Amino acid sequence: MKLLSLYLHVPFCAKKCAYCDFASYHGRGTDWRRYFDEIATEIRLWSKETDFGLISETYRVRSLFIGGGTPTLVDANHIEKMIDACRGIAPFEDDVEITIEGNPGTLTPEKLAIYRRAGVNRLSLGAQSFDDGLLQSLGRIHTAAQIGQAVGMARDAGFDNINLDLMYALPEQGMDQWRDTLDAAIDLGVEHLSAYSLIVEPGTPMAARVASGTAIVPDDDAVNAMQRAAIDRLTVAGYRRYEISNYAKPGYECRHNLVYWNRGDYLGLGCAAHSLLGGHRFHNPDALDEYLSGGRRLDDTVLTPQDAMEETLMLSTRTVRGLDLAAWERAYGTPFARGRERALNAFERAGLVETGGGFLRLTTRGMEVQDAVVLELMGEM
Ligand code: SF4
Repeated sequence: MKLLSLYLHVPFCAKKCAYCDFASYHGRGTDWRRYFDEIATEIRLWSKETDFGLISETYRVRSLFIGGGTPTLVDANHIEKMIDACRGIAPFEDDVEITIEGNPGTLTPEKLAIYRRAGVNRLSLGAQSFDDGLLQSLGRIHTAAQIGQAVGMARDAGFDNINLDLMYALPEQGMDQWRDTLDAAIDLGVEHLSAYSLIVEPGTPMAARVASGTAIVPDDDAVNAMQRAAIDRLTVAGYRRYEISNYAKPGYECRHNLVYWNRGDYLGLGCAAHSLLGGHRFHNPDALDEYLSGGRRLDDTVLTPQDAMEETLMLSTRTVRGLDLAAWERAYGTPFARGRERALNAFERAGLVETGGGFLRLTTRGMEVQDAVVLELMGEM
């Protein structure tokens, strides 16, 4: 049996954050029921014979990630029904990881109890910062105090695997504020932390503020310094960095995200959800209304060996484990280093890349310029 991961997108939020360009909608509460009916229809289709065969005969489900949007905003009974329905696509492994993403301002003990009953065993909270001023300027709906309250509520409900998402490189965010946020997250004792630098996405209110000069984002040196502060502080606190932006206590690495970085098979359900299944990449429409009108499986593409090689290099070098050189040779019939000796030697001399134990990985400095390193290595493909 092969392993499959499922992603289920819930595109509803209480309010749009200033930096957000995800497929998320606010003020569409009347569409919730219709949306989950559509997802149920999509799940039923994948539970029957498909052009990939009967999924349940080939796969077992290793992880299910309910992301958004703000899945914890909607009626928790919708979530429970969707999880039960997903069991029709393929059997779940006994220790399947089921994550729900949420916003600290939207949790209640009742919702958490329903998630637990449905089998959810991992909670990922969008905390972003423990500074109320920064939370407000990001347009978040919660306060710093509510993050701690949400973690406490989740512990009471039995959650022993909790992630907090944090953001750095925010306008007006100083190093001290960032360190305070890291310390506050560490103090809560969560098992996993994700630390993302702000990306100013075109078309967002944040991009308009930056363009008008009312918001000033830190330069690359300051961004790298904040990332290093995270590595240092979290390492001392017992977290291990295992991907560019992700840190976990031993044994709490997110299985679902590891599937993306290792290019395992995954099936996305709901609007804007992407899939990689049997060598095909495809996605559902980003627009909620297009999904509600039945739009599915767009841009279905069979990956060429070149596509697969590029993806393998791009994704594996995000991880601290790095690129498995023997697996590369098995998959593509040629040693990774062949034809790339000059570039690899130059990167090794510059302290950006290292090899050892059968893996090629980026150093901490190399990860700061991952795109440039990968592009140069791809140029030699
Ligand atoms: S809660 Fe998340 S998905 Fe929703 S608007 Fe904010 S950043 Fe976007």
